[in-house]
Amino acid sequence: MKERTVERADFHLKIVQEISDIVNKATGLNTIMKRIVSKIGRSLNLDVVSVYIWDSEKNELVLRANRGLKINPEKDSITLKPEEGLTGLVFEKHRPIIEMPASHHPRYRYFPEIGEEEYESYIGVPIILNNKSIGVLVGQTKERRSLTPAEETLFEIISARLAGLLEVADTLDRLKTPSIVKHETRTYQGKGVSSGIAIGNAFLFRGLFRQLRDEKIDTLSPDIELERLDKAISDVEDELHTLIETISSDEILSQAEVDIFRAHLLILKSTVLKKTITDILVKNKFSAEHAVIEGIETIAEQFESLEDPYLRERAMDFRDIGERILHDLLKSKNGGTSFAEPEKGAILIAHDIGPSIISMLNNKKVSAIVTELGSETSHATIIAKSMGIPAVVGIDGISSIARSGEKLIVDGKTGFVFSNPDDSLIAEYESNFRKLENIKEIIESENDLLDDNELNGITITANIGFPIDIEIAKQNNIKDVGLFRTEFAFTQFEKWPGVRDQLKIYKKVAQSFDGYITVRTLDIGADKLLPYIDFPQEENPLLGLRAIRFSMEYLDLFKDQLKSILLASKKGYKFRILLPMISNLWEVETAREIVEQIGKEIGIAPSDLPEIGIMMEVPAILYQLDDYKDLVDFISIGTNDLIQYILAVDRNSNKVGHLYSGFHPSVIRMLNHVSESTRYFGKEISICGELAGTPSGALALISLGFKFLSVSPSRAPVLRYLCRRLDNGLLGDVKKRILNEKKTLEIQRFIIDTLEGISPSLIEIE
Ligand code: PEP
Ligand code: MG
Repeated sequence: MKERTVERADFHLKIVQEISDIVNKATGLNTIMKRIVSKIGRSLNLDVVSVYIWDSEKNELVLRANRGLKINPEKDSITLKPEEGLTGLVFEKHRPIIEMPASHHPRYRYFPEIGEEEYESYIGVPIILNNKSIGVLVGQTKERRSLTPAEETLFEIISARLAGLLEVADTLDRLKTPSIVKHETRTYQGKGVSSGIAIGNAFLFRGLFRQLRDEKIDTLSPDIELERLDKAISDVEDELHTLIETISSDEILSQAEVDIFRAHLLILKSTVLKKTITDILVKNKFSAEHAVIEGIETIAEQFESLEDPYLRERAMDFRDIGERILHDLLKSKNGGTSFAEPEKGAILIAHDIGPSIISMLNNKKVSAIVTELGSETSHATIIAKSMGIPAVVGIDGISSIARSGEKLIVDGKTGFVFSNPDDSLIAEYESNFRKLENIKEIIESENDLLDDNELNGITITANIGFPIDIEIAKQNNIKDVGLFRTEFAFTQFEKWPGVRDQLKIYKKVAQSFDGYITVRTLDIGADKLLPYIDFPQEENPLLGLRAIRFSMEYLDLFKDQLKSILLASKKGYKFRILLPMISNLWEVETAREIVEQIGKEIGIAPSDLPEIGIMMEVPAILYQLDDYKDLVDFISIGTNDLIQYILAVDRNSNKVGHLYSGFHPSVIRMLNHVSESTRYFGKEISICGELAGTPSGALALISLGFKFLSVSPSRAPVLRYLCRRLDNGLLGDVKKRILNEKKTLEIQRFIIDTLEGISPSLIEIE
C-alpha cells in the first residue's frame, strides 16, 4: 500500500512533465490538444476526456478535442450552451465540479447523439485566462469511481497549461492563421522569471564555442593563423579596455563587477593563455579558431578539476574570454560584421549566465534574455528584473537550436519563446507590447504626483542588492531601504572583504538614501555561495548551514560585518541590522551582545546603536512570536523562504515549482496569524519577499493588516497605484474571503477578480 502511494505521486508528476513536453514539442494546436486528451485518458484511466473552447461570437462552447466519443471534433461540430449540462455549469461558475454519481446532479445531461453514454463519474475544470473562463477540460468514466484530490489538482494544472497555450494559439485562430506548423514557428516554454514582452533578433552569446567545436576548419598556414590569433587577442584587449572605461563611468555596475573585466584583461595578457593556444596551433596545424577552442577548453578543464571552488569558477572566465577571441576572429573573416556585440534590441540567448552577459545588459542593448540554465535568483535574472528586461530560463538546448539573427518573441510572463513567428503572431504581440507600455506610462505618470500620505497608510521601501537597484529606487523616490541583500556585494571580492572594504559598501549605499538602510547580515549558503568560502557538502543545503547559522558558526566574519555597519552608523548614517533565517532566541541574543560589545569598543552610546530586527523565514517562529517581542526592534517577513519552508517546496525547483504559492490557504492564514499576534507589539512588521511586489500579493497582504512592504524598486509605481485605490470596506471583504477559501486557486481567482474591479491595468502588469 505504501509503495503504491509513492508510485502514484511520482506518476502524476510524470504526467505533468509529459504534457509539458507535448506543449513544447508538438506543432499545431489541434495536434497538441489531441495528444493531451489522449495522454490524460490513458494515464488516468478515464473513458472520455474532452476540451471545450468558448466561441465568444456564437456564445457557445465548442468541442475541440476528444478521446472516447464516437466523433471527430475536427469534422463534426459539437457545441454546448453555457446553460447546458455540468460542463456549462463549470464554465458559468468558473469553478471545478467533481460529481459521483454524476447522474444525481440536477444539471446532469447526457448526449446520446454524440455517442455519450451514462457516465457515472464526472470532473470538469474551467480553463481560465486573464480571469475569464475560455473553456472547460472534462473527464468522465462509465464506472462509478471517485476521483482523488490529487487527480483534481492534476486537472487544474493541465487546464492552466492549456490556458497558456490557448493564449497564444487563440491569437493565431482569431487572425485566421491555420496552425503553427505551416509557418515553421517553433514554440518553446521555459520559466518566465522577469515579465514583459520583447520582439527582436537572436544573439547567441555562447554559441561560437558550441557551433565551431565540431566543425572542420581548414588551415591556411600556421604563420597566417598565428598572425590572426595575435591580432584577435590584441583587439579583444582593446575591446576590454574600452568596455572597462565605459562601464566604470556608469553607475549601473559596481566597481567590483568592473573588476571582473579587469581580471579578464590580466588573463588575456598572461603568457599561459597565449602559449597554450599557440602551442596547439603550431603542433596540430590548426586554424586560429580551432586552436582557441582546444586551448581554452584545456585550461578551463584544468581549473574545473581543482578542489578550490573559487578556482573552479575561473573556468567560466576562460570560456568567456575564449568566446570574445572567437567572435573577433570571425568578425575579421566576415568583413568586419560585428559578432561580439549584439545589435540594439537583440534577444540574448545563452547556455549559461556569465559576466559578459551582465555587461551587455548594462549597455541596454539587449531587450530580453533566454537561457538553458539559471533560476529566479540568478545574478543576471535579478538584474534583468531590476531593469525591466523580460527573461526566460530553463529551455533545454535553446542555445544549440536557435540560430543567430532569427526573429524571436519572448514572453517573460508565460515563459513562451517563439522563433520565426508569423506576421499575425508578431502583430498580436506588438499590440500587447504597446498596451503594456501604455499601462506602464499611465501608472508611472501617477507615481511622480504622489506623496506617501496618499497611500492609505502603506509605506513602500526598497529591496536592494545591485547598484542598479539604487538607481531605480532613486528614480522612483523611495526613501528607505527595507532590505539590503549584502551577499551580492560580497561576491564581488576575491577574498573575504575586511572591515575597511565593507565600510565602503555601506557608506556608499547610505549616501544614496535619505531614510534608513536595513542591512541584512550575510545570507549565504544553499544557492548563494561565495567563491572564497568552502561550504560543506550537505544533502539538504536549504535546511543546512545558511544565513544566521553560517554567521553563528563563523563568528569572526559576523563580527567584521557588524563592526563595519556600526562604524558606518557612527558616521551619522541611519542603519538597521536585520538577521536572516532566525529560528532560535539565542541567535538574536548573541547578535545583540556582539553589537553592544562592539558599540562599546568603538564608542557608540547604547541609545545610538542601530535597531536590530529579525527575518521571519522559518515557520518555527510562528509559535514563539511573544518570546521574540522584547528582543527585537522590528520584524521583516521573508515570504520567499517562509513559503518554501511551510509548504516544503523548493522555490527554484522545476519539478515541484507549481506547488509553490503565496496564495495557499495555509500561507494566507499563517500570515494573518502573524499580523494579529503582532498587532499590539508596537513594532514595525514588514514584508520583504517577492509576494509583496505584485499587485495580487500586496492586496492580500494589505487586507491582512500589513502596512510596510519592501519591494524590488521597479515595482513601487504599480504598488502606489494600487494603494491609492484601496478602502477599508474593500480590504475587509478581501480579508474575510481569502481567510475562508480552502483552495489556492480559489483565493487567486478571487484576488484577480477584485484587482480587475479596482483597475484592469493591475492585472496586465502583475
Ligand atoms: C525572503 O526569503 O523572502 C527574502 C526576502 O530573502 P531572500 O529572497 O534573499 O532569500
Ligand atoms: Mg530569504
